[in-house]
Amino acid sequence: MGCILILFAGVIYNLEVKDKLKALDQLLYKRAELMAASSQYRLDQGQKQVDLSNIPLLGSGSHPADIELVYVRWYDPNGKINRFFGTPPPEELGIASEFLTIKFVDQFTGETLWLRQVTLPVQGGNSVIGYLQVAIPLTETQNELREFQLMLTLAVPVALGLIGLTGWVLSGIAMQPVQLAYNQLQRFTADASHELRSPLSAILTNAQVGLLMAADHPQIHPSVQNIIDSAKSMSTLVNNLLLLARHQGKLTPESLKKVNLNSLLENLVIYYNTVAAKASIELVSHLPEQPIKLWADPDLLRLAVENLLNNAWNYTPSGGTVWLRLESHPDRAVIQVIDTGIGIPETDLPYIFDRFYRVDTERARESGGFGLGLAIAQQIVQAHGGHIHVMSNEGKGSTFQIKLPLMSHS
Ligand code: ADP
Repeated sequence: MGCILILFAGVIYNLEVKDKLKALDQLLYKRAELMAASSQYRLDQGQKQVDLSNIPLLGSGSHPADIELVYVRWYDPNGKINRFFGTPPPEELGIASEFLTIKFVDQFTGETLWLRQVTLPVQGGNSVIGYLQVAIPLTETQNELREFQLMLTLAVPVALGLIGLTGWVLSGIAMQPVQLAYNQLQRFTADASHELRSPLSAILTNAQVGLLMAADHPQIHPSVQNIIDSAKSMSTLVNNLLLLARHQGKLTPESLKKVNLNSLLENLVIYYNTVAAKASIELVSHLPEQPIKLWADPDLLRLAVENLLNNAWNYTPSGGTVWLRLESHPDRAVIQVIDTGIGIPETDLPYIFDRFYRVDTERARESGGFGLGLAIAQQIVQAHGGHIHVMSNEGKGSTFQIKLPLMSHS
């Protein structure tokens, strides 16, 4: 848009220059014609003798008051100078082009001027009796054009600003229905997930009771166990969807508490030490002595790190190592979950934070994930004003890094 406006301003400026020059040329031409009309000639022994005595400035004719002429020159039909007013001219008539813009240095004052010059062939009978050349300064036209240029230079940014503002207001109005539809969808997901929780927990409880009651009928155990597993899986999915729908955007100040990150992670280490032992994976934690405190929703933050740790177990073979690190920087805390697992293919890396994206269902130690764990972790971190980032080498391992801002009042 800016380029179009600048181009448009350039075209307008060019048209204005052409317009001004045309008007000036008309005035100059008229003046030169009037002056040429004052010339006379008589025949002397077959030769045309030109009388310039009535031409203003060249002879005794009255000086034109409406126009300032820098010079007036009369050249004979052979192009030799005959008479002039103003600075001394070249002896020979140069290119006999009608109108010319020329740079002129005043020999008396040394001043440099731009002039518009017209050269008019003057007819006497059926032949040319001489050439009248007059010039006027372009100073006034140049000043007017400079003013016009300044006006355009100011008008372009103002117009751009106005267009930007209008675009912003209009896009805001146009986005309203989209935002509304998005909010409705968000509310629908939240409501639907919430409503599904009760029937799901009823199915789960009844299936568990059914399993107990079917103690004497081992043949129906697998079917009931299937119901229990499916209900648990659906319950996890519904809870995750509810979580995603509820925690969109930044968290409200009321939900934030002063959290000691060291203690939050220490508790996770205690729990995951047992998980690690079962899976024959070594868990190494590096937590600083100095407590790192920030304003956060502790439950959500724990969930985000848990999701990363769960993935580390799921995608690290027995005998591997998982590190949990916490570092403090002047303006942020950095949590890292590093594993020596199977890694993530480079082509999948850009999508792994997308909802329901799974690299390959066969790769996980425990299948059954919905591809929501990382989406949830990212949403939680972003809701805290932070960033989550992944680096991975297929076959070597992955590093997930969470950066959280240390708020000024922490
Ligand atoms: P899922 O429930 O499938 O684990 P996530 O959103 O947590 O869903 O992860 C998305 C995908 O990213 C997973 O399917 C898995 O393939 C890949 N992934 C996540 N973490 C790791 C990891 N530490 N190592 C290897 N692959 C991982």
